[in-house]
Amino acid sequence: MQLIGKVLKKNRTAIVLVPEISLTPQMVERFISRFGEEKIALLHSKLSIGERYDEWKRIEKKEAKIVIGARSAIFAPMKDLGIIIIDEEHDSSYKSDMTPKYNAKEIALYLAKQSNIPLVLGSATPSISSYYEIQQTDGLITLSKRANNSKLPNVEIVDMKKELAIGNRSMLSIRLDEMIQKNIEDKKQTILFLNRRGYSTFVMCRDCGYTATCNKCNITLTYHMKENKLKCHYCGYERQNLTKCPECNGSNIRYFGAGTQKLESEINKRFPQASTIRMDIDTVSRKNSYQDILNKFKDENIDILIGTQMVVKGHHFPNVTLVRSYCSRQQYVYVRF
Ligand SMILES: [Zn+2]
Ligand SMILES: [Zn+2]
Repeated sequence: MQLIGKVLKKNRTAIVLVPEISLTPQMVERFISRFGEEKIALLHSKLSIGERYDEWKRIEKKEAKIVIGARSAIFAPMKDLGIIIIDEEHDSSYKSDMTPKYNAKEIALYLAKQSNIPLVLGSATPSISSYYEIQQTDGLITLSKRANNSKLPNVEIVDMKKELAIGNRSMLSIRLDEMIQKNIEDKKQTILFLNRRGYSTFVMCRDCGYTATCNKCNITLTYHMKENKLKCHYCGYERQNLTKCPECNGSNIRYFGAGTQKLESEINKRFPQASTIRMDIDTVSRKNSYQDILNKFKDENIDILIGTQMVVKGHHFPNVTLVRSYCSRQQYVYVRF
């Protein structure tokens, strides 16, 4: 914000890219209160064509001097561009898989070189490629202190294979189980992140080894317990759950791999006294927006938020003191603040 202030003083303009505007309303609020609404244009996919046109015109006339937007905002018709800032630069959403395919980070780098202006990539967890590239220059700036001078979190990695060896078949390690318990007692909040939705990530026949897959996408179908359906997470194909194996007619159907639904039901069984809320594409709908779920978590002081990538988008919850994050098949990272 200080850099943008300097740029504006020179009568130049700024682009700020964020992964997803609807997930960062607090940040947009801060920009508006500091620079004034009339100076800011927002560009994102939820705008109608008319709204987009209006924002586009305000930018072109240089009425709006700061553009905040998702990846496509890198194409905003800026005049006298003075700086480009990419927040959460590691986020995969800066790459567009749709045609025309592009990487907003690479376009930003090109624009910055062309106009000889700074490009700021911000992240607490930089991508390996950006981190490597920045080390080849003298451009790395590190924050030695966290906001409000708070301490760095403790990170513990637990090997779930070793837990299995001592007979722990639950999705939670013994250590995490203890820490959740303590957090509930202390009335602190916990976020559990698991990058799979649904209940079980694949369904297999134990007699012949058949697994249910999507014919079009050739990936395993995910079991959704509530609807008793198998769904393809690529193309949206769904079918009724199997009762018998379509190959050998056996009934020895087993469920493997765990998604957020299963984690939620395990948590509810293990900690019946705790309140939980789940946030993934299956719970975020017209009725419950991202923001409704996050507000509920915060305002009603829900004990545990369980969700996919959406829960780790740089939210600010002062009362959250424990985060469990999925890292690989066998390991989980716990971050305790
Ligand atoms: Zn079979
Ligand atoms: Zn499919």
